[in-house]
Amino acid sequence: MEETTRYLLNESDIPRFWYNINADSPVAPAPVLNPTTMEPVTPDYLSALFPMGLIEQEVATDRYIQIPDEVREAYKLWRPTPLIRARRLEKALGTPAHIYFKYEGVSPSGSHKSNTAIPQAFYNKIAGTKAMTTETGAGQWGTALAMSCKFYDLDLEVYMVRVSYDQKPYQRFLMETYGAQVYASPSSRTTCGSTLLSENPDHPGSLGIAISEAVEVAAGSGGMKKYGLGSVLHHVLLHQSVIGEEALKQMDMAGEYPDVVIGCVGGGSNFAGIAFPFLRENLKNGQRTRLLAVEPTATPSLTKGLYAFDYGDSACMAPVVKMHTLGHDFIPPSIHAGGLRYHGMAPTLSALYDAGLIEATAVNQTSVFEAAIQFTRAEGILPAPESAHAIRSAIDEALLAKQTGEKKVILFNLSGHGHFDLTAYNRYLSGELEDYALPTEAIEHVRQHIPAIKENAFLR
Ligand SMILES: *Cc1c(COP(=O)(O)O)cnc(C)c1O
Repeated sequence: MEETTRYLLNESDIPRFWYNINADSPVAPAPVLNPTTMEPVTPDYLSALFPMGLIEQEVATDRYIQIPDEVREAYKLWRPTPLIRARRLEKALGTPAHIYFKYEGVSPSGSHKSNTAIPQAFYNKIAGTKAMTTETGAGQWGTALAMSCKFYDLDLEVYMVRVSYDQKPYQRFLMETYGAQVYASPSSRTTCGSTLLSENPDHPGSLGIAISEAVEVAAGSGGMKKYGLGSVLHHVLLHQSVIGEEALKQMDMAGEYPDVVIGCVGGGSNFAGIAFPFLRENLKNGQRTRLLAVEPTATPSLTKGLYAFDYGDSACMAPVVKMHTLGHDFIPPSIHAGGLRYHGMAPTLSALYDAGLIEATAVNQTSVFEAAIQFTRAEGILPAPESAHAIRSAIDEALLAKQTGEKKVILFNLSGHGHFDLTAYNRYLSGELEDYALPTEAIEHVRQHIPAIKENAFLR
């Protein structure tokens, strides 16, 4: 019998519903707080930033939420994505484990971010929004939203973290090609940006600062502009569930079921996307798949952060949520996995991790690139440095299986390709990349500053 490598679904297999883990989760989500009053947010406050369709999804309790036809139509440009058996990597490792990966890098913008960018632009369009604002770190989110806004004829302002703006011009060129306006953050277009620039004209920026700028512009636009976030929020995790729903069908085609599902985590959306449908099977249908989130040792919010109420941005304008956090004013080291450099973690994921339903581990930058190159040379696909965190852990699981002789089934999410990250690969190959561990002062800072927010907040 011929061996199958790619498990492919038909267009008609694109999910018709997004899966909402909150319907099955044993842990109730903590309320989202208004950053000024520290009281639970009102729809009024949220509607300055988001259209009603997304606000409803943010608090939805239904298990399944129908995907609008217009969104499914756009998903057809790249979905269903392939599930690939990494047979060559298995051979290279000499492991008895079976390694599968879901490849989200086939989307036009190169990552899973388009799965939420399309519905976010769509719900804004039908609510009458004229323009959107957003931040971007490495650029994948800005690119995905730039494409989606153009599809629905919305303008887009992107605040791009200055180091990435300078170091990764090609992502910016792609955003501009889709028709977006891109500004280096901090910028002089906002109050919070101008303040930071006056203190330090060469400010490198951070995701937290760029979020503050995008939120400030939307909140001050009198309803003309709305804000879009590429991760962390519940509606984003919801949209990403298409990854796991497809993967369940494809694992079935392969006649196997994963012992472990692995994903990298920045804000948590691609991991949640692949893992939550499998978590549903654990909670409701007696499966016992391990769900493993992988973060960088440079920004270890799950493994080293505090589970507490914290601001989503640096200037304290974005909603306050309960999450694993390194502190909203944490400036992460400049590792090359820009998409993982966020101080916090999605509240939905944080709650499940706190309840012990999800595992987490942190891995070093150089070990991540070592795994990425091993993967590229075996499978041919150049992974994004973010996605390579998942590859590192998948290889580690496969090597463990080799020691024990276990025929373990491993599934990981390959969240994007790394074609815009070749400078980082070049630096690794030239021996220039370093490892970062979170410095002790940073951990001290977290311990001392975050509890103050908790005491101020509605827990009082
Ligand atoms: C943005 C990004 C991530 C990190 O974001 P999550 O919300 O944690 O998924 C991971 N991989 C790629 C390719 C990205 O673009």
